[in-house]
Amino acid sequence: MKSFRTIYKNDVKVLREMTCKWITLCPLREYERDGAISLKWKKEYCESELNWRHCKRYQLEEECIPHRDNMMPDGSFADLKMT
Ligand code: SF4
Repeated sequence: MKSFRTIYKNDVKVLREMTCKWITLCPLREYERDGAISLKWKKEYCESELNWRHCKRYQLEEECIPHRDNMMPDGSFADLKMT
């Protein structure tokens, strides 16, 4: 689910998107649930007001370029040991 922040422009109330649009579908959520990665990526990128735009996963998705599920927002690859 997207979350929004209320801001005012010329006294008009508008809603501004705050999180990445992929936040619920991103494979990183499953890794977080399994404890394979920390919540730092979610906090620093996915839930951020603007930093999700700098996420390598997001950028590749926008270009329809395939990328591995274990690619982190900074472009590094996590060594995941899933059970
Ligand atoms: S990892 Fe990147 S693409 Fe996935 S939800 Fe976070 S900001 Fe969006």
